[in-house]
Amino acid sequence: MRKLTVLIVLILLVVAAGGTGVVWDQAGRVAGPVIVFTEPATVGRIGEFVMTIETPRGELNSLEVTLEQNGATLPVFSLSGGDTSALVREGSDRLVLRQPLGKERFESLLQGPASIAVTAARPVLFGYREAETAAGHDFEVSLRPPLLGVQSQFHYVNHGGSEVVVYRVTPADAVSGVRVGEHEYPGFPAAGAGMEGADPSIHVAFLALLWDQELATPITVFARDSLGNEASATFAYRTFAQQFRESRINLSDGFFANVVPAILQNSPDFRVDDPSDLLASYLSINRDMRRENDAYIAALSRETSPEILWQGPFKQLINTAVESGFADQRDYYYDGEVVDHQTHLGFDLASTVAAPVLAANRGRVVHSGWLGIYGNCVILDHGMGLQSLYAHLSSVDVGEGDLVELDEQLGRSGATGLAGGDHLHFTMLLNGNAITPIDWWSAQWVEDRILRKFREAGEPAAAL
Ligand SMILES: [Zn+2]
Repeated sequence: MRKLTVLIVLILLVVAAGGTGVVWDQAGRVAGPVIVFTEPATVGRIGEFVMTIETPRGELNSLEVTLEQNGATLPVFSLSGGDTSALVREGSDRLVLRQPLGKERFESLLQGPASIAVTAARPVLFGYREAETAAGHDFEVSLRPPLLGVQSQFHYVNHGGSEVVVYRVTPADAVSGVRVGEHEYPGFPAAGAGMEGADPSIHVAFLALLWDQELATPITVFARDSLGNEASATFAYRTFAQQFRESRINLSDGFFANVVPAILQNSPDFRVDDPSDLLASYLSINRDMRRENDAYIAALSRETSPEILWQGPFKQLINTAVESGFADQRDYYYDGEVVDHQTHLGFDLASTVAAPVLAANRGRVVHSGWLGIYGNCVILDHGMGLQSLYAHLSSVDVGEGDLVELDEQLGRSGATGLAGGDHLHFTMLLNGNAITPIDWWSAQWVEDRILRKFREAGEPAAAL
């Protein structure tokens, strides 16, 4: 029925125009879809091709997009074949096509110029004829990886500890850092490490060899530009084994009664099957809540300052006895049976009840308040991914966002959270992973491992 109406209208039009030939010819000369290219100028490993097509009511009869380089033609998109969901209508007369365009999709792409060719046709004259447009877009393929070179020397990493690398990367805005096995540690411009006027290509990245990583875990510097081109560089380093202690923790009903109800009350979002089953609730807190808390802590690392806020060595809380060391392997016993195993990623420091807890160095408060197993807890950010954590506090004196100086009071020690008695649980974190504070407590280590490298990188004479 619709066809018939169209045909009648068409005949009327033809009659009005005074002959078939004229309208037929005019329909053939009607402009085709209007094609505008918005991306890309350059692609690398990755890239994206974006174009808009203006055509009445978004109607297209055909659309063919191909990529051409060095005489070869590769299909990018076709309206007649395969998945066409990438062609999206925006408004009444506009279509937008986005396509990945880089060496990851087109393995044969080479360094140099390339182009996109598009043909599009829209229906005219009630679908009896069509109007076509052909258009092209030139772009560059750039597959050259960033330039990367390590500048610092003498890298010694304690198992569970940290180190720093100073390196040059060009372009300076490439994403770069250090990779230790599966973990990536971001690099920051050297100006943030106090190297005033340093070349923008010079970067600083702190790294850690975590307690549960192999001593032989590969450590490399990497850089990735906005086109997805990636470079990596090796450098000389040595790793040193550390002795992690094994310890036995005896759990009692009295301990459960002390800690479990209080933790559940303060953590309303955390569910246990039966709150009256204290052993099961305790195990759930020690495993599941610990995991949730550690994920939250890891996410705080993204709020780190690109500038180093600390000055000189970190300070262990005065007059404290170390009750438990970093990465102690703890077996938990109840009624003579092993019921759990956890790694204790921090130091337990005890002095007197409600002892003042002081900032171990200058930093900004990124967490202040209840934090599950850690009870009342303060976390300070010291910049470039380095943070320190103070747990089980009885009271807190600082608020999030505060900038605190070395020795400024953060609160008082206590036994909130998963604590058997009044003590400070202290740890340091790099990019959200617990690292041993022992290195950072040593003035010698801070001087040899960190400050010396910054000084040498800042001196033009020391450049390689
Ligand atoms: Zn502890």
